[in-house]
Amino acid sequence: MFKNIKLAARNPGQKTTVIDVNGVKVGDDLVVIAGPCSVETEKQTIETAIAVKKAGAQMLRGGAFKPRTSPYAFQGLGLKGLKILDKARRETGLPIVTEVVDTRDVSWVGEYADVLQIGARNMQNFSLLREVGKSGKPILLKRGMYSTLEEWLNCAEYILAEGNPNVILCERGIRTFEAYTRNTLDLSMIPAVHQESHLPILVDPSHGTGILSLIEPMSLAAVAAGVDGLEIEVHIDPQSALSDKDQQLTTEMFESLMEKLRGLKRFLDESNVESIGQASGERVSFSNNTTNVSDAIGTKTDAFSEAVD
Ligand code: PEP
Ligand code: MN
Repeated sequence: MFKNIKLAARNPGQKTTVIDVNGVKVGDDLVVIAGPCSVETEKQTIETAIAVKKAGAQMLRGGAFKPRTSPYAFQGLGLKGLKILDKARRETGLPIVTEVVDTRDVSWVGEYADVLQIGARNMQNFSLLREVGKSGKPILLKRGMYSTLEEWLNCAEYILAEGNPNVILCERGIRTFEAYTRNTLDLSMIPAVHQESHLPILVDPSHGTGILSLIEPMSLAAVAAGVDGLEIEVHIDPQSALSDKDQQLTTEMFESLMEKLRGLKRFLDESNVESIGQASGERVSFSNNTTNVSDAIGTKTDAFSEAVD
């Protein structure tokens, strides 16, 4: 228990808060948000939106304001990007998740977005947190790359304290000495957040690893640890992307990942592991199950079958 975490803290026996985004219930069943890193063109966004919806995604992501390391890198299309997202929503019915980076933009970006994303670099931008708190919109609060769980929950507290109860947390990896991966994806935050907070937690394995081949295993691992949802970057032609081209799944890769996620979910639902990762902190063993998890998810990757056989 953290001393100053009041509104975000999970009280004994309290269930995970369910946040309703136009009928998509985050914190209830597994929710997958997918789409491009950046909105680049109408064709790219709408074709990606149609493909991720067909594969089973429940929300569309896409950045119109891109916080980039270099001021010379593509910064996003701004209003034009939001209008493209609006069109994609009308075509697919998928709610839109998009980042807001400036307090001055919160109210008008909120007219286009169903969920306002606060990026890792802005996690502790307290005036921005207060402003999105006042907006009352669902907020996806990413973990800052140098932040502890306590600091992250304090940031959620800023939003909640403005009277906005709609906060979704998202683990996206932290900076460590490891340079092989883009960030170190801290999956221990899934059960840790579930123990300390009633807010739902998502995982972003795209920024969390930065490596295409690691996105699927980390997504499956997050689901096994009880995550409430995933946010995944998908592009119709990743190699032509204007940002994060090496970590965006093709639509075919995403479809195959969704298939495996469904298999794993079925396995978990049919097994007695519903409390995995939840506040009870119960230890769960796979050993009594007769179902083979790799059969269930339709894959036989060495790492995965070794871990459970
Ligand atoms: C994003 O999701 O578009 C993004 C920039 O992620 P992060 O803030 O986690 O780096
Ligand atoms: Mn990105």
